[in-house]
Amino acid sequence: MIDVAVIGGGAMGAATAWHLARAGRAVTVFEQFEPGHRHGASHGASRNFNVAYTEPDYLAWLRDARLLWRELEAESGAPLLQQTGIVNHGPGRDLAAAAEAIAAGGFATELLDARAAQERWPGFRFAGTVLHTPDAGRLNADAAVTAFLAGAQARGARVAWRTRVTGIDVRGDDEVHLQVEDADGARTVRARRVVTTAGAWTGKTLYGVPGPALPVLRVTQEQPAHFTPLDPAAPWPGFNHIPAADDPATAWFAAGVYGMATPGEGIKAGWHAAGPEIDPDRRSYLPDPALTASLVRYAREWLPGVDSTRFTEVTCTYTSTPDARFVLERVGPVVVGAGFSGHGFKFTPVIGRTLAALSAD
Ligand SMILES: Cc1cc2nc3c(=O)[nH]c(=O)nc-3n(C[C@H](O)[C@H](O)[C@H](O)COP(=O)(O)OP(=O)(O)OC[C@H]3O[C@@H](n4cnc5c(N)ncnc54)[C@H](O)[C@@H]3O)c2cc1C
Repeated sequence: MIDVAVIGGGAMGAATAWHLARAGRAVTVFEQFEPGHRHGASHGASRNFNVAYTEPDYLAWLRDARLLWRELEAESGAPLLQQTGIVNHGPGRDLAAAAEAIAAGGFATELLDARAAQERWPGFRFAGTVLHTPDAGRLNADAAVTAFLAGAQARGARVAWRTRVTGIDVRGDDEVHLQVEDADGARTVRARRVVTTAGAWTGKTLYGVPGPALPVLRVTQEQPAHFTPLDPAAPWPGFNHIPAADDPATAWFAAGVYGMATPGEGIKAGWHAAGPEIDPDRRSYLPDPALTASLVRYAREWLPGVDSTRFTEVTCTYTSTPDARFVLERVGPVVVGAGFSGHGFKFTPVIGRTLAALSAD
């Protein structure tokens, strides 16, 4: 019998396996696709380590996450978190109040007027106050997932690639039967604990399993794009642009905007949670043309430092709860981590730690 079976080898499953293996637990990760696949939420070379949160619990997590990212970097030898700073702007947030909360949470802040910010970061157009958080940065998502799994495997963890869990049968407090399928066919695997970090497939994977009552999980296909910078030497911090809901000047925005520079790929920009609802097993992987057109308009009007006609798009899945809070729960031998939407990556090592702890006896 397996001690802990982790369903899903994306960021959250990989981090959970890393913490479990470090704690001396025998863990097997089941991942339906191949290493480095592009079907879920954790691929690509860039994610914002944005610290512009006002909730004390998120700020506490960010402090721990930063330490754990550095620990994983030291262990793997891979640079994962680059401190690029992030600029936050737009009338949709009280930036002065946010600056106070962020500073109380232990992160540096700086408020600039639009002119001063424009001079420092000419690639952007600013129309008001700018909140700069210099401690924020950029994470390399692909390298992070690889480092977590390598660290877990170096401590004895197994990763079963191209193996889909098709059924979960809870037999008792300490016994779960998993139906799994791979190239050799279907079989049953027994496990003492199961951690489900199945991302967009969470609802399907847990269907009919006695476990935590889940909030509605909305699965969408998101489509950021990398735009070509006009001046490759220009400074680009990460960015968040939050419009005011009632501002006619930005009524055409599909949502708030986030972005960062991705080395070798350009300036990434994306609408946050504006994509269509999808079934992860029946998705087109094709960007929505209307969202593409509005994002190109955004780049043209608000990112003067990029060529809005030259861009490449990527698609990716968000799994979101109604209040954007994460699901981290356990019932019996089943632990669930879900709902990481478009803001979970920065917290990955802390979420992995929480899920590993939840699967303890
Ligand atoms: C476009 C985009 C931009 C983002 N930007 C940021 C950002 O700037 N900052 C930030 O903090 N966060 C960001 N995020 C959010 C972050 O990337 C996600 O929250 C995080 O990657 C979720 O990880 P996960 O492990 O839950 O999901 P996934 O990576 O999707 O992992 C789930 C895995 O489970 C596997 N699986 C599912 N069902 C089964 C099964 N039955 N059997 C076997 N395997 C199974 C899947 O194949 C998949 O590999 C962004 C997300 C997207 C999509």
